[in-house]
Amino acid sequence: ARHFDVSRPLLQRALAREGRRTLRAVDGISFAIPKGTTLSLVGESGCGKSTVARLCVGLYAPTRGAVVFDGRDLAQARALADQRRRMQMIFQDPYASLNPRWRVGDIIAEPIRAFGLVGTRAEQDNRVAELLTQVGLSPLDRVKFPHEFSGGQRQRISIARALSSNPEFLVCDEPTSALDVSVQAQILNLMKELQQRLNLTFLFISHNLAVVRQVSDRIGVMYLGRLAELSPAETLFRRPRHPYTRALMEAIPDLEMTGRERIPVGGEVPSPITPPSGCAFHPRCPLANDRCKRERPDLKPAGDAMVACHAVEEGRDDAMPMPAIAR
Ligand code: SF4
Repeated sequence: ARHFDVSRPLLQRALAREGRRTLRAVDGISFAIPKGTTLSLVGESGCGKSTVARLCVGLYAPTRGAVVFDGRDLAQARALADQRRRMQMIFQDPYASLNPRWRVGDIIAEPIRAFGLVGTRAEQDNRVAELLTQVGLSPLDRVKFPHEFSGGQRQRISIARALSSNPEFLVCDEPTSALDVSVQAQILNLMKELQQRLNLTFLFISHNLAVVRQVSDRIGVMYLGRLAELSPAETLFRRPRHPYTRALMEAIPDLEMTGRERIPVGGEVPSPITPPSGCAFHPRCPLANDRCKRERPDLKPAGDAMVACHAVEEGRDDAMPMPAIAR
């Protein structure tokens, strides 16, 4: 995916002030997710990760580039219609994404009906009961309403609904960030268990590196619409290369393990409407030099990772200390 046109009025007004009509919310991103694996995208809000999520399930169309699922470009209307059942999305706020006036059984059965997957009412009820059991709820919960459940249980209902069309690819946009830490762990464990049992492929979106560490095969770190680093999860936590990745790791709350205070990434995320010249991270980067201000770095191989950073290419990234979590 390359970039997409902006339709939101606020952004349009901001762009008009700058004399521009489009915003490159996502630019030059390229990745593949092998079947049965999890790729996570992390970054601060506004980095474009949710845009990528929506592009991947066809909710947005790229203005350049392509989103290919199982060998077919989603830009072709028929391909998208055919693939819709096979791709589902789980959202951050389980309460907002569940219709409060519908019983849980109807919420879960809605995709089954929409895709014409099950014939009789009895078959449909059996399928709903099976899905509720799969996500750790009781088949009897089908007659209840969403407000009768806790946040974690509501996210389980969202997962059951997403699974009801027998998808192969799930895009999870901050699925645990509205939940307590202990409930987060339960939902992440459930997702891993379902992935193994059903051979699911996940694109997992989060602002929290500690969360994605538990579920990812590979992790992409995004900054202002571009990938700063794309790496196997184990490599990223053993040897993060990009200064932004290192700064994000220093921000992981580690009080329980080491008693250290949370250290935020210094400075603000720049506006995507007027991004900095050269490397967009240079105003916040301790390793920035003149080249960084002039020249945008491309994603290049660094060991088994891909990193977009002149300092890594020039071999001077060791001047920035490794975060404690990777030491
Ligand atoms: Fe920092 Fe330069 Fe690397 Fe950007 S390219 S992250 S400014 S060292």
